Amino acid sequence: MADWARKRVTVLGLGRSGASAAAYLSGQGASVLMSESSNGAGSEQKVKELEALGVQVEFGGHSDQAISQADLIIVSPGIRPTSDVIQKANALRKEVICDVELAYRETSIPIIAITGTNGKSTTCALVSHMLTKTGRVAPACGNFGVPILDQLAKKPDFLIAEVSSYQLTYCSAFSPKIAVWLNLTPDHLDWHGDLNSYIEAKRKLFANQESDQYAVLNHDDPTVASVNARAEIFPFSVSTGLDNAVQGAFMKHEFLSYRIYGRTSVVCAQQELQIIGRHNLENALAAISVGALLDLQPAEIESHLKDFKALEHRLEYVATVDGVPYFNDSKATNTASAIKALEAFPDKKVVLIAGGRDKGTALEEFVDSAKRYAAATILIGEAADRFEQAFRQYGFEQIHRAGSMEEAIELGGQLRLGPVLLSPACASFDMFKDYEDRGRVFKDLVHARLKRLAPSA
Ligand code: ADP
Repeated sequence: MADWARKRVTVLGLGRSGASAAAYLSGQGASVLMSESSNGAGSEQKVKELEALGVQVEFGGHSDQAISQADLIIVSPGIRPTSDVIQKANALRKEVICDVELAYRETSIPIIAITGTNGKSTTCALVSHMLTKTGRVAPACGNFGVPILDQLAKKPDFLIAEVSSYQLTYCSAFSPKIAVWLNLTPDHLDWHGDLNSYIEAKRKLFANQESDQYAVLNHDDPTVASVNARAEIFPFSVSTGLDNAVQGAFMKHEFLSYRIYGRTSVVCAQQELQIIGRHNLENALAAISVGALLDLQPAEIESHLKDFKALEHRLEYVATVDGVPYFNDSKATNTASAIKALEAFPDKKVVLIAGGRDKGTALEEFVDSAKRYAAATILIGEAADRFEQAFRQYGFEQIHRAGSMEEAIELGGQLRLGPVLLSPACASFDMFKDYEDRGRVFKDLVHARLKRLAPSA
């Protein structure tokens, strides 16, 4: 832990994590400059709070002094390594790190770090839930939306940190007690430049670990499984039995199970989970692995895995109206996520509500999934025309159109073909503020329909 008293630190970017880092460092006695490239409109309150803490704030670009006079630079994860300001800092041999790296250097609280292209938030929340329910203080934080540095003063037993590839790019010594890597599919390539850089960033999670730490790795994902870890590896696998592994979490028929210290424990059946879909089995097995490594009892793992409910907007069950269940998967803003959602209904074909602001991506695979798992689709938003064309082109004809979310919900209920699933495969900004707004509107309308159609007492 550093002596900050004579240190000058520049924080680049007035986002949530930047504001948290500035407040933390100022509280430690550092002289802090917050440097923000925008004009700061809408951040007046945040600025007032930081200035009250003694933080100096500059807007409208990063001054030369912000870089040249800094002993350390804390960067917000949105800023790319190729940006002018980072290039300038590199040229001056300034150390540039993110808030997760700073938190790691500042605390001895054990950190459980969770990364992956998909499933980070769900797994973080699940691990935090299990530990909290068994009496530990273990907040989910980091990329989860709760800055990690804000948690240090509360002195939790564990920090359950969701870490993105952006944050990992700006880590150098970070070495979590348990590092979890869920999966890797091409994503964020505009930020990283290419797939290799993206993979390299994820691998940094394991680079500094020692043999008394743990790497929880998805055995089914070749990129993840091939990581070169010095830490003790605890694999998990949905599809293979991990027959020869000394330890690991796996599916034994439809039962989630794990083996550690030579003992195999069966946790529960897949159907007993409240989070649905094969992808959530991955998340559950990863969380079981963490629980086992932290010496939770099998009964504790079972009980708190079973009572964990989906995070809002992620295949979240809303209500059953007139015999038709409704699910909110508004977080599915791309086709890959929507495909995962469709696959979560292998037994009953769904009525899929899709569309919104079109991302222009290829649709063949998505339509193939719809052919397998959907009885009909109701298209909304700006993407409706292109989606309808693609659905027809790839051989799916059960297409309906709706002019509003309300109309889509009513129609979905009237069709009576199966559960109604909102999994848009599109951004939300054509009709809503963001995906959360879209999900909440959906839920409110479903509840309104429930109220309207409920038999009066
Ligand atoms: P993240 O925090 O990584 O974005 P979330 O837990 O918020 O992940 O889930 C976002 C979406 O990603 C979910 O709605 C689901 O469609 C998909 N998803 C979740 N877990 C997985 C997984 N293990 N593998 C693939 N896709 C997943």
